[in-house]
Amino acid sequence: MVNRQRKTYENPTHLESLPPYAPIEPFEVLSARLGRTPDQIVKLDANENPYGPLKVVREALANMEFPHIYPDPESRALRKSLAEFTGVPAEYLMAGAGADELLDLLMRVFLEPNDCILSCPPTFGMYSFDAELNAARCVEVPRRADFSLDMDAIREAVETHKPKLFFITSPNNPDGSVLDSKTIDELLELPTLIVLDEAYIEFAGENLGASLSRIREVPARENLVVLRTFSKWAGLAGLRVGYGAFPLWLMPTLWKSKQPYNINVAASVAAQVSLEHTDELAKTVEILKAERTRLMTELQKISYLKPYPTQSNFILCQVDGRDAAELKARLAQEFGVFIRYFNKPGLRDNIRISVGRPQDTDVLLEALKKL
Ligand code: PMP
Repeated sequence: MVNRQRKTYENPTHLESLPPYAPIEPFEVLSARLGRTPDQIVKLDANENPYGPLKVVREALANMEFPHIYPDPESRALRKSLAEFTGVPAEYLMAGAGADELLDLLMRVFLEPNDCILSCPPTFGMYSFDAELNAARCVEVPRRADFSLDMDAIREAVETHKPKLFFITSPNNPDGSVLDSKTIDELLELPTLIVLDEAYIEFAGENLGASLSRIREVPARENLVVLRTFSKWAGLAGLRVGYGAFPLWLMPTLWKSKQPYNINVAASVAAQVSLEHTDELAKTVEILKAERTRLMTELQKISYLKPYPTQSNFILCQVDGRDAAELKARLAQEFGVFIRYFNKPGLRDNIRISVGRPQDTDVLLEALKKL
């Protein structure tokens, strides 16, 4: 007989209070909802690269040799190309289904219930989300009003809470600011594992971020992880491929904990062919950087917007004297222009606009003026 008193199946209690992650909707969903074709949608809400993959990448995808065979669990060919690209030997590198997978993997292997991570908001939402998903806490040391780090508060928090991992982003999402090298050096002195998220580094400094990235230091340090992705600069967000450089002592644990076939064949092919054509991709990045300058100049002319300086492929703006949520909604409804809206501590009435193509900027500016 069924015992109706006892609940046999229950959700884990630590997930009851976890708000669902609000993902950005893809073209086909937006199209269906708004009755607009994809070319009538200006998608500036997820920092994707509007130019997409290179033509050679699309061709390679069309001609994949072994899509019916499971991929290499060690992504050997891709890691070899990544070693050449980054200057970090392959044994320090692991690829993931987006940097997102590697964030989650790190938390899964490090966190036990009631452990904590440290994060400096406003920043990328997945750090706190993944920590809670793994029954851990996220201790937060807010950035200052100019998005710089409060180093004293960080040192105190590390000492008090002893976080297992410290997630820090440069350039930061959502404002696009870069940490200076002295600050990163100070963070590396802390007695915790620093996970430096460089998802947007290719848009900062020169030469696809090579002048600013700290990835080459990973082999010389015990406490530095650097994460990167192909989603932004290489235009492969839909294929889900990212990578990280990790200290050697951590690699055996990561290898045995990851999903065996995490990098699918298409993602692997696309990433490898992209790495064979970095010069061409760098040209696209330069086009986006030039468009960023133009967009910034134009946004500064709009009286109700205060754009923040950025070194990434998006611009965060404070909205003054009008309702930012309504602005976002009307841009979408009336003009098919999608941007990101934030209203949380440190980001009251802010909007974030990804840098698009010149024609995307034109539609956005026209809409902002009409509104
Ligand atoms: N880190 C940051 C700061 C991001 O903004 C994003 C993407 N929104 C990611 C990591 C994840 O990127 P991926 O597409 O490689 O999972």
